[in-house]
Formats: sequence, structure tokens, C-alpha cells
Amino acid sequence: MRHLPKVLIVEDEPSIAELITVNLRHNGLSPTWVDDGEKAQKAIDEVLPDVILLDWMLPGQSGVYWARKWRSDPRTKSVPILFLTAKSEEVDKVSGLDAGADDYITKPFSTQELMARIRSVLRRRAPQQAEDAVTIGQLHLDGATHRVTFAGESLKMGPTEFKLLNFLMHHTERVHSRSQLLDKVWGDHVFIEERTVDVHVKRLREALGEAGAMIETVRGVGYRFNNQSN
Ligand code: CA
Repeated sequence: MRHLPKVLIVEDEPSIAELITVNLRHNGLSPTWVDDGEKAQKAIDEVLPDVILLDWMLPGQSGVYWARKWRSDPRTKSVPILFLTAKSEEVDKVSGLDAGADDYITKPFSTQELMARIRSVLRRRAPQQAEDAVTIGQLHLDGATHRVTFAGESLKMGPTEFKLLNFLMHHTERVHSRSQLLDKVWGDHVFIEERTVDVHVKRLREALGEAGAMIETVRGVGYRFNNQSN
């Protein structure tokens, strides 16, 4: 039997959850719906999903709490999380990305938009797993084990920062514009704003610490990996 991608929907509003469930099923995905984070945790403990659609405002602990928890758990660390936010919560998008979400989608959204986002996170997940290791100066990245070290010290970073660094370290020859990075790193940038790139570059520099200077901002153009600085 063909493997259908498993989507865990964590949403306390039944009408939204039902609409998503029907649409995902219609588009060849296998959805499971729970209405709070505790039930989501139980579902994850039983079967690991391929994508988690996570509502921001949930009864009990918020979506941000669960995103942080699942990002720090080795079992769920690399499962893409797509945040569902209401229009009024738009200011909190950056906190959602900070908590480890891969992307967010604002309610109300079209089926087409939701499907594009889900396909995009699924696609992004696959190719990056097979990448080679690369060393520049004292910075070492291993695509197979998802480890990054600087001067022998292990560095922690989120999955999107890892993908961004992986791409930049493999393509040091030129400056990449934000839209090129969205295309190459995010895979499908139709619905993602360019400032999302800046948010992740900032987080990547923070994660790199001393080596953060290797990610160079080229004013008015974009970003480049500077292999001369270390
Ligand atoms: Ca809600």
C-alpha cells in the first residue's frame, strides 16, 4: 500500500478542523485530528506524523509551548510544524518561528494555500537529508547527522537555520537574494514573506555565535557566506 503522508491537526475549533480534515483526505493525505496539546502528545507517542498543523491558541498550553517541546524532543525534532494563526495574532508570527515552527498560515486560508504549504514542508524535508558534509575554516556541517560544530564545539540550531546554513556553505561563490534563498531553502516561496529570511538569518547568526560573522549581509542584495572571515 502507498504511504500516505500523516498530518496531525491540533486545532480546538471543530469547524476548522473538520474542513481541514476533509480537504487533506481529498488531497491524498492521512489526517488525524486532536483538539488540544495533551491529546496531540498521546497521538505522537503512538504514531509519528510527517507534518504537524498546530493552532496557536489552544485550551491549556498554547501552540508555542508545544512547538518548543516537540522541537527539543529527539523523536519529534525534525517533524515539520506549520502554525495556524488567526489574523489578530499576526504580530506573534516571529515568536512562532522562534519556537521552532517551519512556517505559519493565517486563518482564514484557502485549501489551495494550505496544500501548497504542506507540500512545501514535505518537499523541503526530503532532499536535505542526503547532503554531504562541508568544512569551511573551523566550521563543520554534517548533512547526514545534522551536526554543526565550530572549533570542535557542537552548535545547536533549528531545522530551518540548519537548512539555510547547509545551503549557504555549499554555495559560497555568490550573494543570494532573499527570494533566491526562499526558492532554494524553503522550496516553495509563493506564500512566504521575504522578511522571514531575515528572521532565520538572525537566528542562524545567534546559533553560530563567534562564527556568526561568516554570514554576511550584502546591503540591498541579500546574504553571502564569507569564507574569508574565519
Ligand atoms: Ca484555537
